[in-house]
Amino acid sequence: MADPIRIGIVGVGKIARDQHLPAIRANSDFQLVASASRSATVEGLPGYSSLTEMLDGEPELEAVALCTPPQPRYPLAVEALGRGKHVLLEKPPASTLSEVEDLKVIGERSGRTLFATWHARYAPMVERAREWLAGRKIASARIDWREDVRRWHPGQQWIWEPGGMGVFDPGINALSIVTHILPKFFFSEGVLRFPQNRQAPVAADLKFHFVDGVEMPVGLDWLQTGPQTWDIRVGTDGGELLLSLGGSRMEVDGKLVGEAPEAEYPGLYARFAELIRSNTSDVDVSPLRHVADAFLSGRREIVAAFNE
Ligand code: NAP
Repeated sequence: MADPIRIGIVGVGKIARDQHLPAIRANSDFQLVASASRSATVEGLPGYSSLTEMLDGEPELEAVALCTPPQPRYPLAVEALGRGKHVLLEKPPASTLSEVEDLKVIGERSGRTLFATWHARYAPMVERAREWLAGRKIASARIDWREDVRRWHPGQQWIWEPGGMGVFDPGINALSIVTHILPKFFFSEGVLRFPQNRQAPVAADLKFHFVDGVEMPVGLDWLQTGPQTWDIRVGTDGGELLLSLGGSRMEVDGKLVGEAPEAEYPGLYARFAELIRSNTSDVDVSPLRHVADAFLSGRREIVAAFNE
C-alpha cells in the first residue's frame, strides 16, 4: 500500500470542522498534518496562522485543502501550487471565472493535482440519476433549492459580500448536479433579489434552456424556514425523475428508486487520492459559469433588508 498523502487544511471554519476533518481522518490514503487559519486551530494538530507559515513549518506536506470562502482562495491556491503541493478547492473554486481558468493553467504547469470539488455531485443518488437519464429525451426540468440561511450560515458575513454569491452559495450545488447529469443548457432570463443592505442576492428566479429550447426554471430562496427543499425534477420520454434531499433520494414516477445517507465528503477525498495517485487534475468550471451568467444577464430587484 502507498504511503499516506500528508495533507494540511486551510481555513478552519464550519465546513472544515463538519466535513473535511472527519473525512480526512477516516481515509487511510491521507495523514492530517497541520492546519492554517488566522484565528482557529484544531485540537491535537499543529496550528499555523497562515498558509505560508504552514508550508514553511511543515516541509513534508504534500497536499492542502483550501476550505476558506471563495474570495481569498486564488492567491492561496497559486502559492500552494507554486510550492509543489496538490490542491483541493472547496466549492465555488474561486470568486471569478478568470481566477479558475488561470488556476487550471498554473495547475497544469506545476505537474501537481488541482481538484475543484463539487461536493453535491457525490450525493448518493446522483450517479444513479445520471445513468437513468442517459439516452432519455428531456421534456421538462425544474430546480427548487430553498433553505434557511440563518440555520446553515449563522453569523457568516462573507456570503453577503461581493464574491460571496449569496443564495448562489447553495444554489451552485444544484447547478453542479445538473451540469453533471443533464445535457448542456444556457441562461435565458431571470431576477436576482438583493436585500437593500447586502451585496449578494437572497433569492433568485431564473430560467435556463437546453439546446432544443426546453426550459429549466430554477427557484433559489434563502429564507425558507421549516422543511428545506433541495429538489431537481426532470420529465423525460421514459418517466419523471425526482432527485430530492440534495441528491440523497431518487424517485421515478412517484416510486422510490433509492435513498441513502449523505456521504459526500468521503467520496470527495477518495477522488482526491485517486487524482493524486494518477497524477491528474479535475477542474470543471461549468457550475460557476452559470452563476456568472445569471449575475451578468439577470435583472436585479431590491428587497427588504436582511438582518441576522
Ligand atoms: P466559515 O465557517 O466562514 O469558515 C471559513 C474559514 O475560512 C473562516 O473560519 C476563516 O478562518 C477562514 N478565512 C480565511 N479567509 C477568510 C476571509 N477572507 N473571510 C472569511 N473567512 C476567511 O465558512 P464555511 O461555511 O466553512 O464555508 C467555507 C467554504 O466551504 C465556502 O466556499 C462554502 O461555500 C463551502 N461549503 C460550506 C458548507 C456549509 O455548510 N457551511 C457546505 C459545503 C461547502 P480564520 O478566520 O481562522 O482564518
